[in-house]
Amino acid sequence: MKEKIVILKCDNYDENLVYEKLNNGIKLLNLKNIPNKILIKPNMLSARKPEKGVTTHPSVISSLIKFFQNREIIIGDSPANYFKSIEEYWEQCGYKKISEKYNIHLKKFENSLFVEISINDKNYKIPITSLIKDYYILNVPKFKTHNLTTLTLGVKNLYGLIPGITKSILHSKFINPYDFSLFLVEFYKKIEDKIFLTVVDGIIGMEGEGPSSGTLRNFGYIIIGEKPIYVDYVCCLLAGISPEKVDFIKIYKEKCKINEIEIIGDKFEKIKNFKLPSTKRYFFIKNKFLSKIISPVGKLFKIIPSINKKKCKRCYACVNICPVKAISNDLKFNRKKCILCFCCFEVCLYKAVEVKKSFIARFLT
Ligand code: SF4
Ligand code: SF4
Repeated sequence: MKEKIVILKCDNYDENLVYEKLNNGIKLLNLKNIPNKILIKPNMLSARKPEKGVTTHPSVISSLIKFFQNREIIIGDSPANYFKSIEEYWEQCGYKKISEKYNIHLKKFENSLFVEISINDKNYKIPITSLIKDYYILNVPKFKTHNLTTLTLGVKNLYGLIPGITKSILHSKFINPYDFSLFLVEFYKKIEDKIFLTVVDGIIGMEGEGPSSGTLRNFGYIIIGEKPIYVDYVCCLLAGISPEKVDFIKIYKEKCKINEIEIIGDKFEKIKNFKLPSTKRYFFIKNKFLSKIISPVGKLFKIIPSINKKKCKRCYACVNICPVKAISNDLKFNRKKCILCFCCFEVCLYKAVEVKKSFIARFLT
């Protein structure tokens, strides 16, 4: 069996254009089963306006609502910074307007079911929104880089189905980026049957220091497929990255049978000079060559988040989200406690958390 993935060229967010593209693209997939109850899961990483390029653009969401208009649809998410009011997220990201226009309910993920997963011989009970009992997921990620998982696309967007604080706590259990990807894969395997479609907003995407402090770039694509792992695979090819170099795809391939992929839709070209996060090379060198060296190079080869005081607005989102309490109330980092999960980096609205490299890390990466 071949997995069909549709690539569409689309260079701006004009609603009519996006709708026309999606209308043609989804029809190409020839979906066998369209569920009656649909939960749209955007990437709502932070309460920022669509033009900041951090969240899924509302034009993509409203076009999908129009396409599936005869179904029961809700939009839901559980943002990383759970200390901020969800209303502000809906408003800033542009989803409140959509909900009023189309009479759609907005749901914050709260009540949980549990999925059981086993990683490295340990069992975990992971909470997940109870909405997946009744709804099938229309997964609508944004095409961005990610300092821990290299890219954040279809599979990573599903991490947001885990309600509230558990998301940042899990970082303290899966500290190494490879282990975190292992977790993502096991979690994904438990819920993949509940996802009926993935649509990646790659019109304006983010490269470099994603998922929130990178550089916006007009990639000019929408990528659609039924299974997120195949959609992500094709996004890697578009970005000119070997999928095997992205941990969660490599791990999935090692554990599960991969079907052949058929790419259909518009003619496409590889995105030229796609910039990866600066942490990618750091983790590669550390895990591959330096993990067993205690001194002197291993010790001096490090990166650490640091606050740019000129940009910082003292909102304390970074302090609140840190799973290991490595940031004090006077905004100082405790280097010994920090597990490099980059939650502080993700949650800062003002790009004030930066990655600082030691001299040797700068030299080698
Ligand atoms: S670094 Fe960012 S998240 Fe932390 S207090 Fe300053 S503005 Fe807020
Ligand atoms: S300081 Fe930032 S990177 Fe370090 S553990 Fe806390 S949230 Fe994660």
